[in-house]
Amino acid sequence: MRLENESERIRELRKELEKYAIEYYVNDQPSISDQEYDRLMEELQNLEEKHPELYDPNSPTQRIIGQVQEGFEEAVHTSPMLSLGDVFNREELEGFVNRVKKEVDDPQFVCELKFDGLSLACIYENGALIRAVTRGNGRVGENVTLNARTIASIPLYIDETRPVEVRGEVYMPKKSFEELNELNESLHLPLFANPRNAAAGSLRNLDTSIVRKRKLEATFYYFQNAQEFGIASQHQALEAMRAMNFRVSKDYRLCKNMDEIWAYIEEMTQKRASFPYEIDGIVIKLNDFISQQKMGMTAKAPRYSIAYKFPAEEVETRLLDITLSV
Ligand code: NAD
Repeated sequence: MRLENESERIRELRKELEKYAIEYYVNDQPSISDQEYDRLMEELQNLEEKHPELYDPNSPTQRIIGQVQEGFEEAVHTSPMLSLGDVFNREELEGFVNRVKKEVDDPQFVCELKFDGLSLACIYENGALIRAVTRGNGRVGENVTLNARTIASIPLYIDETRPVEVRGEVYMPKKSFEELNELNESLHLPLFANPRNAAAGSLRNLDTSIVRKRKLEATFYYFQNAQEFGIASQHQALEAMRAMNFRVSKDYRLCKNMDEIWAYIEEMTQKRASFPYEIDGIVIKLNDFISQQKMGMTAKAPRYSIAYKFPAEEVETRLLDITLSV
């Protein structure tokens, strides 16, 4: 491609991806598959790498896209709620592991399921849930506390009087999603494209009684102020959250090298269909907090963790399954 064609393509992709992101994050109604979106994003990333002179901080590759929906109060996050960089195969994942190894001696990684929902920050003071906030644009999110209180797996009280902020994923279990779409179909209402969009549309519904009926669940994976509790690693943070009665997946694993990480990915790929909720990949995180800080973050994502996304064929099958089941 010639330079003017490539710069034209960059402009076109930025515009298109922005439109798809609004459909997905703001309206909860995507018009293309996640695979297609990821493919266009990768194309834009490659072109931008080739043309650093066309850098734009507003490009979809550089920022977290999302807005605060009208009707919800805005809430500023205590620290940015970031996205994750992604990889799609073993070779790209090895690239991530090698980047970490260049900066950290003998790194250990925590591998976790990547829940396909939307992230939520839950803040507790004097043992009570006082605020729940969606990711929004990463800096400012929607205050959805009333809705979060309807979700049974989000504790309203914890046995800890010091301030606590935990972050996790709100999702709709596969069964609830099927039931919801069956109900919508019988009422001639629009169907949700997938459980992720159904969860996002539900948590961001202005009617709390509707949210209560949607049977959302939450699982936690991030202890925002863990270091105030003397916690030094992601592995310890998961255990500490579990001890406080937050729901934490039992399926995480501490891995020392690429072979162990890959074995975990293969095992979870096999188990994926048997989980009662959707996962769209595996998140690999450097375990030790000091090493995490050393690696730092970009404006969009931490450099010490990465999401491995499941391959396209499986997602296509999943989409087909859903289409057939509604
Ligand atoms: P992402 O969903 O790919 O990854 C980041 C998110 O993973 C975090 O914000 C968190 O919510 C979640 N997560 C789940 N389990 C986690 C765990 N154990 N540890 C840490 N985080 C965990 O990133 P994103 O920015 O939220 O969304 C980008 C993706 O959304 C794209 O790759 C694409 O697949 C999809 N998308 C699709 C469309 C479309 O039109 N179809 C548009 C925009 C985005």
